[in-house]
Amino acid sequence: MGISSSGDAPARKRCWVESANNPETDFPLENLPFGLYEDDRQRRHTCVAIGDLVLDLPGCNTAGLLNASQAIGLGPRGLGHVELWRAGQIRHRAAELLSDPALRAQVEPHLIAQKDVRMLPPFGVGGIGDYTDFYASIHHATNVGRLFRPDTPLLPNYKWVPIGYHGRASSLIVSGTEVKRPCGQTKSPDAAAPTFGPTQMLDYELEVGFFVAHGNELGQPVPLTEAEEHIFGLCLVNDWSARDIQAWEYQPLGPFLGKSFATTISPWVVTLDALEPFRIPAATRAEGDPEPLPYLSDERDREQGGFDVNLEVWLATAKMRASGEGPVRVSRGNLKDLYWTLGQMLAHHTSNGCNLRPGDLLATGTVSGATPDSVGSLLERTKRGAEPLVLPNGEQRKFLEDGDEVILRGWCAREGYARVGFGECRGVVAPARD
Ligand code: MN
Repeated sequence: MGISSSGDAPARKRCWVESANNPETDFPLENLPFGLYEDDRQRRHTCVAIGDLVLDLPGCNTAGLLNASQAIGLGPRGLGHVELWRAGQIRHRAAELLSDPALRAQVEPHLIAQKDVRMLPPFGVGGIGDYTDFYASIHHATNVGRLFRPDTPLLPNYKWVPIGYHGRASSLIVSGTEVKRPCGQTKSPDAAAPTFGPTQMLDYELEVGFFVAHGNELGQPVPLTEAEEHIFGLCLVNDWSARDIQAWEYQPLGPFLGKSFATTISPWVVTLDALEPFRIPAATRAEGDPEPLPYLSDERDREQGGFDVNLEVWLATAKMRASGEGPVRVSRGNLKDLYWTLGQMLAHHTSNGCNLRPGDLLATGTVSGATPDSVGSLLERTKRGAEPLVLPNGEQRKFLEDGDEVILRGWCAREGYARVGFGECRGVVAPARD
């Protein structure tokens, strides 16, 4: 493990799936992220992505291409029953199957075009256990805090505690599912009483999620040194947020109905193994910031607990789609800007003895950078609507309108290494119910 400065890139194996050798693909042989799809007879298949295809793993098993150990857990319920070490074996075997020309004729029947399969949440519908959302970007916390407290944007606990809240797992949906504009209580500052109706401040939040592989026993904290052994892999998360509902309800207990109506995840789980070449040191703390308490402090985590993942938000309005215009990029950030590492978040989550279970989803919170074009929400980008975003066709957005499609993308690039991408996390805003 660890990265020397340059010149140690491994020789790349060639994949006989041509689209996987395209330098622009998110899914080369080096990635092989896991997912779950449903076929036209409603049968579910755990799979890995390769180029613009998916490899059906139960199909490979039936054909005798996996060994008995690799096949354990590949049932219809998704990744919750696949242990992490087995997932490593499966990726290794899949790479063999997809690179050995002698195996091509046997493997090819188990490849399907990604455009022809319906992806499900990777841990199965209803199989994602609990969902926790953190607040790990100090830039996001500062930007949002500044809107409400210009002089003291960061609350005093921020640099000590990885702040989070318990989200709602039942409304986690997979990329491509439409998001109905939620209704709720809102109150404008000059109104005497709140009203109930569709949110007027619908927003996206650009986040990265990480799935728990094996969990921990109730009462048994996971030390930071072991935290990453509990992480199956990463996905993209859009934590849709109704800012007006949130503003009225959030005190004193935090986010509730302004968040729980929908959270979109990308269908592919990119493993930590695949992200190994893109590890970097955790973000350096500013001079004068406190050292993390001992349970949040570890040398290895400091040296390689960060990940260099480019993150983008793209927007396509209904008008843009109607006139054949492609989506426009409205933000570009990076996961390396987080104040807390994934390991610190997981260790903190369990530090009181709280048990995590396989398939639980933890998310980073909105990932924002230091510059205006790297913020992960419209709340920050438009200063809560005060400075509308102007799109190339002249349309303006303070917040999202019906018909708007939000597309999150994530990818890693490093000289000498294959690009490793996350695919897309998409959602179109549908009108509120009558
Ligand atoms: Mn969030």
